[in-house]
Amino acid sequence: MSVFKYEKDADGIVTVTMDQTGPVNAMNQEFRVAMGETVAKLEAEEGLSGVIFASAKKVFFAGGDLNELLAFEKGQEAEFMSLLTTIKSYFRTLEKLPVPVVSAINGAALGGGYELCLACNYRLAYNHKSVQVGMPEVTLGLLPGGGGVVRTVNLLGLQAALPYLMEGKKVTPEKALKAGMIDETVETLEELLPRAKAYILEQKGNEDAAIQPWDKKGFRIPGGNANSPKLAQVLMGAPAMLAQKTRGLLPAPEQILNCATEAARLDFDAALVIESRGLTYLVGTPEAKNLITTFFFQMNKLNGGASRPKDVPAQTTKKVGVLGAGMMGQGIAYVSAKAGIEVILKDISVEAAEKGKAYSAQLLDKAISRGRMTEEKKEQVLALIKPTANNEDLQGCDLIIEAVFENIELKNQITSATEQYLCEGGIWGSNTSTLPITQLAEVSSKPENFIGVHFFSPVDKMPLVEIICGDKTGDIALAKAFDYARQIKKTPIVVNDSLGFFTSRTFGTYFDEGARMVVEGAHPIKVDNLGKAIGMPVGPLTVHDEVSQELSRKAFETWSAMGVAEKWGEQKALREVIEFLTVQNGRGGRHHNGGYFEYSDGNKTLWPGVMEKFYNKEVAIDDQDIKDRLLFRQVIESLKCLETNVLRSVTDGNIGSIMGIGAPLWTGGFIQFVNTYGLENFQARCTELAESFGERFTCPAIVAEKIAAGETFQ
Ligand code: NAD
Repeated sequence: MSVFKYEKDADGIVTVTMDQTGPVNAMNQEFRVAMGETVAKLEAEEGLSGVIFASAKKVFFAGGDLNELLAFEKGQEAEFMSLLTTIKSYFRTLEKLPVPVVSAINGAALGGGYELCLACNYRLAYNHKSVQVGMPEVTLGLLPGGGGVVRTVNLLGLQAALPYLMEGKKVTPEKALKAGMIDETVETLEELLPRAKAYILEQKGNEDAAIQPWDKKGFRIPGGNANSPKLAQVLMGAPAMLAQKTRGLLPAPEQILNCATEAARLDFDAALVIESRGLTYLVGTPEAKNLITTFFFQMNKLNGGASRPKDVPAQTTKKVGVLGAGMMGQGIAYVSAKAGIEVILKDISVEAAEKGKAYSAQLLDKAISRGRMTEEKKEQVLALIKPTANNEDLQGCDLIIEAVFENIELKNQITSATEQYLCEGGIWGSNTSTLPITQLAEVSSKPENFIGVHFFSPVDKMPLVEIICGDKTGDIALAKAFDYARQIKKTPIVVNDSLGFFTSRTFGTYFDEGARMVVEGAHPIKVDNLGKAIGMPVGPLTVHDEVSQELSRKAFETWSAMGVAEKWGEQKALREVIEFLTVQNGRGGRHHNGGYFEYSDGNKTLWPGVMEKFYNKEVAIDDQDIKDRLLFRQVIESLKCLETNVLRSVTDGNIGSIMGIGAPLWTGGFIQFVNTYGLENFQARCTELAESFGERFTCPAIVAEKIAAGETFQ
């Protein structure tokens, strides 16, 4: 029996209900067989008056089968092209049937799912927030290769199609209707199939309803074809704009731009071939493998709770105490209240706490001005935040998050003074970015309930929470912190305790290596720019200005006092730069009178003192060496974290590096990078770098172990 249920009614309308094996319909071998049979049957069907494509699943159709795509290997190009040609021929046959074909979109129709809809003459959708249409392939390093590029360009016009294709924009039925991506919506699920049938019956005698716009005589692409003067101008600037955005590191949007342009230049069927070639090329790139692995498989694993203790029941946070209403505390209060959690926001004075609450009001007002929030909802969120200077108000909190100054005595004192207000079984979380959790937990009466909950700034925008288990942290505390992170819609990674945990420690190597090259005499601007060239959001010097050299100086002091300063290895160059900038020249970072750079009127220029002190024009470090030094330091540090069990899984390392550190997207995260670079190649390059630049580039033993076991990092 086919996984596509085929039913013809008395009016000659065939309803094809897709119900593939497993939870979703996907474009895999099973689909190809079912679609091939269905299309052949439809072609031969007598008395056919219309066709409806419907889904028996909650999701209309989930798109390409990513397991299949990930398994693609070089050498399989011809086979892959032929699969695409087959799917395309089915879609082409479908849209050339002499009767109207309607897709009845009951749930998300993304990627291949929307491509199927595009091959229908009429797209009818259930108007509900669970329904989304779009083609997010680009976010996985791919392009819509089932005719999605060509049909969207022909349907919407090149310029209007580009954001959907190149940014992978997904939209609700309402927006899709406005954009012309679908044709009609219904308000209830019950109306969907009857309306689809009614539409088909209404088209009796209207032959046009069975012909796709692009198959009609005299068809012109909306907005003109690629050679029209207006579009030619847009297209001239587009590659440069794209290069600025992706820095040439992501092949998918480039391919999409190319295929979309060809779709607006060539005839329909020729463009479909170009599109297939584009996807065949992309599916074999390391970038696609990295993005699919990390953003699809590992992200699902993580959000599904892979790092959470299995046996602990779901923990819901009802009342959270936030200690410290500064930059971090106010953000934590905001995201918590927005998720419906009662918040006690405590600072040293009510005024300071109220100022922290005002930050939430500010963000909510901004959301209102953008049409994303109502006054009523704003008031509801604000009503949940109680600013206070009284410890007693913390009574009954099931979670307290401490976000006061980064000072161990202060933090200890606060733990001792307020821990008692937690409800029975309540959990204590510290938002420290550098202090070891095990050490902070020493003053706690219940160290098993003490955990690190490390947010990133700005809290409302940054999607990651790094949860840190101290030596004594128990499973319930971990589960609670994990569930709280999901409650406030963040992605949690779980790591074990170490100085700087995983993210701060790895990130620190980036600006450490930058500082080393400056001290060696390299041109600071070159070093900074090449950091961006590998795909980091900003250069290593710029980022240290943002983090603030003053903060680093204070952290060094704290670690020295705690006797842990040497744990990060020798940092002579970094200390020299920090001493020079902060102590000798009063430059503590961007917001502290400038750092490596000067900042005035929105302009950023290199502070000449850095050149005078360090630059040596005789020193010439090869560009590739600079890039690899900046990238490999971070990769090596991540591997060390994995090797020493600071990272509990590869997944946490990849997602954490991208969302918390800004690891370049194309790498799929700092550990996944090694898989597609090749473990042996990585080892060899580490050896070269170690010989030229020092032992810190020695390849961690875990790589040799994986090679010996014939494994990659999974
Ligand atoms: P901040 O200086 O902006 O805020 C600290 C707040 O704590 C101030 O409002 C201060 O009045 C308040 N405070 C001090 N003593 C207090 C007490 N006894 N009771 C209640 N409140 C008290 O600092 P921040 O940047 O928000 O950092 C807070 C913590 O978060 C630090 O541990 C820091 O390392 C960590 N952190 C910071 C960042 C960041 O990017 N800023 C990122 C992650 C973690």
